[in-house]
Formats: sequence, C-alpha cells, structure tokens
Amino acid sequence: MVRFNQHYRKLQSSYLFSDIARRIEAFESRNPGRSIIRLGIGDVTRPLPPACISAFHSAIDEMGSEKHFRGYGPEQGYGFLREAIARNDYQALGAEVSADEIFVSDGAKCDTGNFQELLPADVRVAVPDPVYPVYVDTNVMAGRTGRFVDGRYEGLVYLASTRENDYVPAPPDEGVDVIYLCFPNNPTGATATRGQLAEWVEYAHRRKALILFDAAYEAFIRDPEIPHSIYEIEGAREVAVEFRSFSKTAGFTGTRCAFTVVPKSLVVTDDSGQAHSLHALWTRRHTTKFNGVAYPVQRAAEAVYSEEGKQQVRALTDDYLRNAELIRTVMTRLGFHSVGGENSPYIWVQVGGDSWDFFDRMLGEAAVVCTPGSGFGPCGGGYIRISAFNRYERVVEAMERIEAMVR
Ligand code: PLP
Repeated sequence: MVRFNQHYRKLQSSYLFSDIARRIEAFESRNPGRSIIRLGIGDVTRPLPPACISAFHSAIDEMGSEKHFRGYGPEQGYGFLREAIARNDYQALGAEVSADEIFVSDGAKCDTGNFQELLPADVRVAVPDPVYPVYVDTNVMAGRTGRFVDGRYEGLVYLASTRENDYVPAPPDEGVDVIYLCFPNNPTGATATRGQLAEWVEYAHRRKALILFDAAYEAFIRDPEIPHSIYEIEGAREVAVEFRSFSKTAGFTGTRCAFTVVPKSLVVTDDSGQAHSLHALWTRRHTTKFNGVAYPVQRAAEAVYSEEGKQQVRALTDDYLRNAELIRTVMTRLGFHSVGGENSPYIWVQVGGDSWDFFDRMLGEAAVVCTPGSGFGPCGGGYIRISAFNRYERVVEAMERIEAMVR
C-alpha cells in the first residue's frame, strides 16, 4: 500500500460546524415544530443582484451561439474582469494595482489555502488567534507545524486578538517570514486602521516578511477612515499579497468567483539569495493547476462594477449591515461587550465562561444558533460569533428571543 502525507495526521477534525449541526438536530427532535433562527454559519442568504443575473443570462446565451461560443479562457481571468477590478477596487482608491497583477479564481478559500505552496517548508508563519481555519490547516498539511497542543500547533506563531488590543494584534517582537492578516476580520468583525496596517507593512519591510492579506469582507466597510485594501498603505506593494472574493460582496458563495492580487514589485529569493518575482511564480502555479473561472460567472462578476451593479451590491451589504447594527445594539443593551458589526457582517460577543455553554443556552432557550468562539482558537474562549446573514425580520425575532432569555 502507498504511504500518505503524514502531516495530515496532525490535522484536528473540524468538529465546529458538525458539532453545531448535531446539537441543532438533537434540539429539533426534542422540540418538534419549534422554529430555529440561524445566525451561525457565515453564508449569505440574499439572491444575486439583478445586474449579475442579467449578465449571467446573456453570457450563457453567448455560449449557446456558434458565433460567440468560448472554450478554455485565460487561467488568470478575462481582461474585461481584471480591468474592471483594477479600475474600481484599486485605482479608484488611489492604490496602484494593474489588471495584469490580478488573478481571477474560484475562491478566496482556495487562494489563501494554496498560496503557501510557493514557500518552503521551513518558513516561520504567524496566524491570528481566533483564526479563519484555512490559514492554519493548509500550513499543517504542508508540514510547517508540530503537534497540536492546548488548541494551538507547535511551530506557528499565534497573534492573539483580544479585548486588550482591540482585536488587532501588533507585529510580534520575534521575526516571522509570513503573516496572515484578515480585515474586516472573520470571526471578530474587527477592522484595522491605516496606522495599524502601516505598522505591519513597516515590520514586513524590516523583517523581509510577506503579508498575506485577506480582504474577503472589504465590501462591508463604511467608515471612510478604514482602508479597503492593504495597497492603500505606502510600501505594501513590495511586501503584500491581497485576497478578495465576490462571495460576501455580491452573494457569490454558490456561484464562485474571487481574485488575488500579486504585485509585480514583490520579490522573493532562492536558496542562493537571488531575487525572483513572486508574480511570475504565482502565474506559473495558477496556469499549471487552474483552468479559469467559467465565462458566464466572470461576466456576472463584471456586472458588480456596472452603475446598477454597484448600487445593488451596496443595497445588499447595507441590508446585512442593518441586521448587524441591530444585533450589536441589543447585545450592548443587554450588557455584553462586543466588537464588529459596524464595518463587518460579524459581531464578536464576549459572553464569559465557556462559549459552548452560551451556545447551548441560546439554542435551548431562544432557539437561536450562533457560533461558539472557541471553535476559532483559544482566544475565542468566552466569545460567540453572531452572523448578520439572515432576513431582517428573522434577526428582529432572534434578538427579541435573546433579550427575553437574558432578562
Ligand atoms: N476568507 C475569509 C476570511 C472567509 O471568511 C471566507 C469565507 O467564509 C473566505 C475567505 C472564503 O471566500 P470564498 O467563498 O471566496 O472561498
């Protein structure tokens, strides 16, 4: 029999969402007919914007015509989408990113997971705690960690995101080679200021480190002072890769389209110290292993940048932000400290004690589902994540139930 990659044995089974599902099932069998309100999993609930649907339909018609049919497309994405992204998401902010630095893909999950493949096994990696688990697990698979002890892997540097640092960790004293940052953050909903990101960019220059910046929730930023992109920070083009997604921006979780920016000014070195372009390496990887996103999906994504698309996406994210505001307001009124929900669809609530106990109480007494914070790392102990992805009426009802439960 063939042997398998032994690093996979270190992976912890992802009990979080299966555990939640099991507890919901048990509750349902004890309480048949009781309506459960789900504010747990971070999936969108609203349909695609009409501008995207219309572009999607037209592109499918093109695929059915002899004249307009398209076969394999460019792996990095069609020029029309890459141009629209560069113009609207970057150049409009004054950030210098060109279309050929953008790689269209089928998900920020895949890209944040795959990018580490370009790096050797012995780089020192820093991840936030609490963390989006993909950053950690893909490095475990690649053999960059030791054992899992007390909720953390040996060999990784964890950046604690706590109430003390307003959930935005500062650069560590020690040197690390690769840093995963995510703002607006999942799960905390915290955002980083220009100054905080500038500190990270300065650290990366000084320590010759690479920042992998996940901006999957950028579309929820409303505060004009909060940067949407790491490239709004001077010097970031030399030290940072940025990941974005249409998933939460425009409801593409089931449609699949995202992109990664790898500036041409980013250089890495080989074992002899000679400089190489990270852009060229990612081009090689992407064109070898990826076939490109379906043409109709890229047309649907392009429509996000049309005038009507922009308005519809704004309305969509505004709706979720209205839910988030209500959640935050009620939890604050009930005396809980929380973060997020202003420029993010997640609210991170400090409930104290064991987060699973609070989860069980919310499910058992209010029939409302949240996510226990401890599932995202040790710093999530005593917290729950409430997601704003649901219909407003359901969120109103959920908050009435939670209020009744707590009072
Ligand atoms: N990055 C973060 C922080 C996320 O929370 C998610 C999805 O929940 C993703 C990336 C994945 O995005 P995509 O749907 O594009 O794979």
